[in-house]
Amino acid sequence: MSIRQQIPLLEALADIDERIRVVEEDLALRRGGLQALRGEVAGLETKIAASSESISSMEKTRNELQLEVRQMGSQIEKSREKLGRSRNERESLAATRELEELRKLVRDREDEVQKLENLLERARTSITESKTRHDALTKELEGDAEGVTQALSERETQRVQLLAERETAVKALPPILYRRYETIRSRRPRAIASTHNGTCNGCFISVPPMMFQKMMRQEEFEQCPNCKRILYYVPKDSGGSNA
Ligand SMILES: [Zn+2]
Repeated sequence: MSIRQQIPLLEALADIDERIRVVEEDLALRRGGLQALRGEVAGLETKIAASSESISSMEKTRNELQLEVRQMGSQIEKSREKLGRSRNERESLAATRELEELRKLVRDREDEVQKLENLLERARTSITESKTRHDALTKELEGDAEGVTQALSERETQRVQLLAERETAVKALPPILYRRYETIRSRRPRAIASTHNGTCNGCFISVPPMMFQKMMRQEEFEQCPNCKRILYYVPKDSGGSNA
């Protein structure tokens, strides 16, 4: 088979590979989008669960502190009575000190309760925000699921069809040329390039004149010295190349 016959076959394969690449990129993008959405929903669920847990533990601590404050209230009452009953300066001093200590303990607990209330407020707001976002995303996911699933299956069908076309295109090529094509394709999405004037239309660099002279005889495929693509000559008016 002359290279003039091989060129259109090679170009047909390169076109199919280009279409496969586009379909596969689209598939990956859609799958990725779906996955990211699901990941965000799962992340929000974890966050909500953690916040709920920390809210109940803060509430428990706050309730305990409030209970202590009430108990200290009755102790303060007793201290006051003691102060009222004190018969000398020593007793009155002791009762006053006890009263001050108790009042300080109550203040400390009230401060802690206030701090906890602030934290609880923040945690509840954050939970509400997370829940709102979670519900919106879940709805989006449910709405999208059908559309995305359909788009995915359409692309998947396209991909299978293209792979079948590819198999036919590969069989039409000499195996050595195909192997060469595949080796280059592992580095370059489009492994071929044509030239009509000595400039590689893959990388737009001129090939050496001697090489171009040889290429014009269309006896064998060359390799672009710069981009390493399979390079071949196509006369300008032939319209044969879209590479
Ligand atoms: Zn090149």
